[in-house]
Amino acid sequence: MLDNLTILHEGLPNKHSRRILVVVTMLCRLNKTGCIKNEGIMLAGLMQAAPLLISGILRHAAVAHGDREIVSRLVDEPLWRYDWSRCADRTGRLAQALERLGIVPGDRVTTLAWNTHRHMELMYAAPGMGAVLHTANPRLSDEQIVYTINHAGGRVLFFDRSFVALVGRIAHRLASIEHFVMLSDAERLMPGAVDAVSCEELIAAEQGGYAWPSFDETTGAILCFTSGTTGDPKGVLYSHRSIALHALAAGLRGSLDISAFDVIMPCSSLYHATAWGLPFAAAVNGAKFVLPCDKFDGASLHELIASEGVTMSCGVPTIWSMYLAHLDAIGTDAGTLQRIVIGGSAMPRAMAETFKQRGVTVVQALGMTETSPLIVVATPTPKLMAARGEVAEDHVMTHQGRLIYGVEVKIVDEEWQELPWDGKSAGSLLVRGPWVVDRYYPNIPAVDADGWFDTGDIATMDEFGFMRITDRKKDIIKSGGEWVSSIDLENVAIGCPGVRVAAVIGVYHPRWEERPIMVIEPHDGIEVTAEQVRAFIEPHVTPWWLPDAVVIASVPLTATGKIDKKALRERYRDHLRTAT
Ligand code: ADP
Repeated sequence: MLDNLTILHEGLPNKHSRRILVVVTMLCRLNKTGCIKNEGIMLAGLMQAAPLLISGILRHAAVAHGDREIVSRLVDEPLWRYDWSRCADRTGRLAQALERLGIVPGDRVTTLAWNTHRHMELMYAAPGMGAVLHTANPRLSDEQIVYTINHAGGRVLFFDRSFVALVGRIAHRLASIEHFVMLSDAERLMPGAVDAVSCEELIAAEQGGYAWPSFDETTGAILCFTSGTTGDPKGVLYSHRSIALHALAAGLRGSLDISAFDVIMPCSSLYHATAWGLPFAAAVNGAKFVLPCDKFDGASLHELIASEGVTMSCGVPTIWSMYLAHLDAIGTDAGTLQRIVIGGSAMPRAMAETFKQRGVTVVQALGMTETSPLIVVATPTPKLMAARGEVAEDHVMTHQGRLIYGVEVKIVDEEWQELPWDGKSAGSLLVRGPWVVDRYYPNIPAVDADGWFDTGDIATMDEFGFMRITDRKKDIIKSGGEWVSSIDLENVAIGCPGVRVAAVIGVYHPRWEERPIMVIEPHDGIEVTAEQVRAFIEPHVTPWWLPDAVVIASVPLTATGKIDKKALRERYRDHLRTAT
């Protein structure tokens, strides 16, 4: 333990190399009387202190895997096809263009953009030159978009052509934006309320050969906001170092297992926790990268997977249920697709089974904006395989995952006392590590004195180191003083034939304080009754967990494609008010 440990650093900048030379590190502890006791002088390591910068990731991709392809769908433009080397060249020109627009290190540049190569170039260009890229979430309300852009203080707004109307509506309220750039070629520049230039014009005007500057790796790089389901969205400012370390960890075999043989298509949005860091992990590993723009429907995904040979993708369960429905509808298979990483909300067990039958491995991961996002990934271990034999796979499928290097976790009770890793004790999930938030933007503390960040989730950890999320604290259902896991109920219900989305919420009950009700949205054109769902789930759940009502209705989704439980609670607030 590092109790009472104080480490003293003295940093001296070396004029020639701009590297930091750690001269002396003294290990000290407080003695019993509270005085500092010198316990020795540590030797400085003698290795290079090259900073972990985003520009370094792109330079690596250009040099080591330069001809590996990048393919991008665009808004009403033909498919774009180039490679990491040409991506690096264009990104350098974009950085030059930003400088020409007057952007200096520390400035913020904002995007309202889909998953395209242009958006990805901006994710490298702005941070690479020392500015911060704020990836605004276009699925938020106008009010929240204005709030986040003003809060970030962006000076340039890059926006996709599909947001012309949105930008027209809000432009007069964007206090700090000085330049509007449309992510489009010059010919297709659309007229709108703001005077915008096209991004292709900007790039074409530059020389190229940009010399990426070197600076401290803890510099802010990309600013993402949480989706603000409780209050205003909160800003999380990733640093170059956090992004680089997260990219390395994401690629590991026991993590997302990315290699140069992969063809990766991110189906989580670039504006939502940088599409789980995949633009960086793909560049680190030299994977081919396929960007689907905003086309996340089953048919469009299938088309791109088949035409580009996609091997790996990621996204929230709702996207993959649309994809599976499409494969069923046209009676085809998943082609080259080998694995899908599912996160954002709990992976339904039935979905994993269906993918398995189609020869696709599904890997669950837990993450959140504040954690860059990866916390745990569900991949097996020898210990689990030896102990659980045939049911080991089941164990992996029904858990969010196990720790990847870099993240520490702790489960605590209401008094903040640590709970055992026994698979039963559920408590608040705390995390810490080099890609976990420390402060919300611009400088609001987010962790306790020891650096632990409270995720807002309730979880268990078991003896194999596997985590299971039982609920989000704000979604907890407390019936007669006992917890009912909405996630477990949803997981069972989604297996009922015809069910597309299952959502469970707690609503006021005069006798039990709260009781669960279940809202079921069937697949298009399929009829499912409340009785069918009830009969399906009954054998699988503890009797007192059975929902007091099953309602067949459409289920609202949040800006990040998750079930909007806040809206559902509002809608069904009085549903059981007269129950006994
Ligand atoms: P927001 O907090 O605005 O919803 P995030 O995408 O950061 O946006 O949400 C993170 C939360 O999503 C986590 O705290 C957790 O509750 C939930 N989540 C993410 N992945 C999973 C998963 N695999 N299983 C269950 N819940 C998950």
